[in-house]
Amino acid sequence: MLKSRLFWKLFLAFALVNLLTAAALMSASLGWQREELVELSRRELTSVAVLIEAPAAEWVATRSEDAARRVRELAEQVGATVRVSGGGEELVAGPEPPRGAAEQNTVHAQRPLTDDGGRVVGRIDVTRPGETRAEALAALGERYTRYAAVLAGLVLLVGFGLVSHVVGPVQELDRAARAMAAGAYRQRAFVGNNDELGQLAQSFNRMSEDLGRQLDELRERDHRQATVLGGMIEGVIAIDGRRHVLFANAAAGKLFGFFPPQVEARPLLEAVRNHALHQAVTAAIESRTPQRLEIDWEERVMSVQVTPLVGDKTTGAIVVMHDTTELRRLENLRRDFVANVSHELKTPLSAIKANAETLLRGAVDDLENRGRFLQGIDVQADRLSVLIQDMLSLARIESAQQPFAIHAVPIAPAVQECLQDYEQQAEVKGVALAAAGPDGRPDVRVKADPEGLRIILNNLVDNAIKYTPAGGAVRVSWSETDGAAGGPPGVVRIQVADTGVGIPGEKIARVFERFYRVDEARSREMGGTGLGLSIVKHLAQSFGGSVSVDSRPKEGSRFVVTLPAA
Ligand code: ADP
Repeated sequence: MLKSRLFWKLFLAFALVNLLTAAALMSASLGWQREELVELSRRELTSVAVLIEAPAAEWVATRSEDAARRVRELAEQVGATVRVSGGGEELVAGPEPPRGAAEQNTVHAQRPLTDDGGRVVGRIDVTRPGETRAEALAALGERYTRYAAVLAGLVLLVGFGLVSHVVGPVQELDRAARAMAAGAYRQRAFVGNNDELGQLAQSFNRMSEDLGRQLDELRERDHRQATVLGGMIEGVIAIDGRRHVLFANAAAGKLFGFFPPQVEARPLLEAVRNHALHQAVTAAIESRTPQRLEIDWEERVMSVQVTPLVGDKTTGAIVVMHDTTELRRLENLRRDFVANVSHELKTPLSAIKANAETLLRGAVDDLENRGRFLQGIDVQADRLSVLIQDMLSLARIESAQQPFAIHAVPIAPAVQECLQDYEQQAEVKGVALAAAGPDGRPDVRVKADPEGLRIILNNLVDNAIKYTPAGGAVRVSWSETDGAAGGPPGVVRIQVADTGVGIPGEKIARVFERFYRVDEARSREMGGTGLGLSIVKHLAQSFGGSVSVDSRPKEGSRFVVTLPAA
């Protein structure tokens, strides 16, 4: 309170006005008292003159000592200097008359003396020194000053109370308003007054409450929008009429490699250096029609939709984009797959049709050769059947439609069975088959579907025999890595190694792709579909494993399937 300038201004003004009024009243009152006193003294002296008139007249007429004595007595009693003059003589009685400066303070009364005939024979002068009056006035002044001091104290006290009553609420309102300006909303000003100041405080509190509520709502809305935009997979960039970024969400930053808060208020071209996008934004803003485009961004494809924002005052655009690279890749895969399948189907079908036509054109009667044509049809039909079966099983594995029955499957018997199946084929080709498990570990087992494991082994052994010339060897071996305690679980590595034609280094990476063949003619000749290794890869992955290959042309290949140990 004592630091408030308003308080001091009001308080000092109040005190000054009060003190000045008191002083003015006091001096007016003193002046009036003084005049009153003078008047009173004069009347008193006039009375004295009247009292003295009889002995004075006697003294002027007779000069009797008795008359003089009475005059003196009276003068002594009333304490005034009395001069009686007449007949050239003067009688002075009472106290010494005042002299000099004091004379001005004196009160004086005069009365003519007349004889019986009414003729003026002399004069009475009564003078009283001013001291007594001055003393009375001083005493009065002193008393007034004492009253005034007490009164001034009281006035100051009341003033303090009154001014505080006004300044306190003003200070409280000031505090609340400042706090609000500093961002602390929902401030309450605590003012107990019932007057206009109290009403002002109430209005302030209501306003602050409303403002706080509106702000909360705004914040909540802002937060919701930020959450929605932040959670979107699509990148969103809002742009103003000058092509500057107003806002960008996290996904946009991720897609284009910028930090959203850093690009805000910067030109779009600085955030995303892509002219196609910039042109689309310009076109959208200028033509007020949405634009759609695809842009290539660092080996990725993005689908972009630019929607113009048309407001009363503002123009701009919203850019929404998403990464369609994966979609595009899948589309390409599907297209390639359809093309490949058509191509694969076309070859055996053409052969079947050619053989059938030859037979129809008369070869059916050629007893010696018709068997060859019919056999051709049979072989190609078999190829078609194998191809379709491979495609179906690949589709099933890929779509995970066929639930696998995962068991602990012992490796040794599975390999043994597979080699038995291919024994004859290998023998015909002149390829040696061998199997080798780890020493002293006859019961290594994997977690797999038994039928799936059989398909994996058959495909790998079939390929190994197919791509190994006579005199070569195919060897299936396996080993188990124990899982460390608390570490990754153990795995079983199954190797199918051959001494065959091998695969050139640059093609190794592609052998697991569908329909990929290193040597198309040779593969077809061998009755391959180009799907075998794809099936192996997908099966191994379905069992939580993987497949890899290590190969050298003319030396041989080694396919390694890793499956979880059981
Ligand atoms: P295919 O039916 O043609 O054998 P795969 O998917 O099984 O199809 O194999 C794809 C290609 O990988 C084969 O065409 C072949 O060129 C190559 N390949 C597979 N296994 C071997 C192997 N053991 N030795 C050499 N090349 C192989």
